[in-house]
Amino acid sequence: MGMNRTPLIAGNWKMNLDHLQAVALVQKLHWSLKDAKHDGDTVDVTLFPPFTDLRSVQTLIDADKIPFGLGAQDVSVHDSGAYTGEVSGAFLSKLNCGSVIIGHSERREYHAETDEIVAAKVAAALKHGLVPVICVGETSEDLEKFGASAVPVSQLETALDGVAADAEIVVAYEPVWAIGSGQAATPEQAQEVCRKLRDVVRAKLGDDAADSTRVLYGGSVKSGNIATFMREPDIDGALVGGGSLKVDEFSSIIRFQKHVGV
Ligand code: PEP
Repeated sequence: MGMNRTPLIAGNWKMNLDHLQAVALVQKLHWSLKDAKHDGDTVDVTLFPPFTDLRSVQTLIDADKIPFGLGAQDVSVHDSGAYTGEVSGAFLSKLNCGSVIIGHSERREYHAETDEIVAAKVAAALKHGLVPVICVGETSEDLEKFGASAVPVSQLETALDGVAADAEIVVAYEPVWAIGSGQAATPEQAQEVCRKLRDVVRAKLGDDAADSTRVLYGGSVKSGNIATFMREPDIDGALVGGGSLKVDEFSSIIRFQKHVGV
């Protein structure tokens, strides 16, 4: 966990929870953190629900002053027009979304998103005032052939092409083999790759960006292992999939600072 970087715990719901279930989960999560007397200033929490839930969740967190950030799981490279099924960053900003996940491995795999498309989406997000949460990571084949860092480093280099030095971004290192598998990377391996990703930010965007950018680890993060990742100097938070769908589990992940031994 970096000295001056507020930790970020991000919940990627993927294609789970309709808007009614979403509202129920957000309320329960808020109450759980309140019951536990969690200090919301010590860690940022951002939720990434499906598009159809965004309006309901936004209305709830605005009305009840719930201190969660809101983000989307994808954004179009286009601003508007004849692009059936796509969602503009302008619409997301209007809904008070502050960020958007870009280049998740499931989009790269099932929607053929290339590094160039990811870079165009990063530009679209920034254009509309959204913080891109740029996901990079190696498959198990990549790991065998090239080691852990080569592919994520090259993915991030392309994603940052054309990004301004003062742009706010978040980087998420998500080894594909660790996503949803129950087999997380070791904190040491994750730290090593996150350090190299921070070096990419330094080389492309400069020292200030490298020091202020939050680099997250994602892949089978749970309440039982989050603290071990957060001890590492270049890991500033987590992108959590399955664990963000269970109130008690996600609440405990958010409260990692209270875990024994941290
Ligand atoms: C993800 O898909 O971003 C993720 C990290 O999933 P999980 O936590 O379920 O491994």
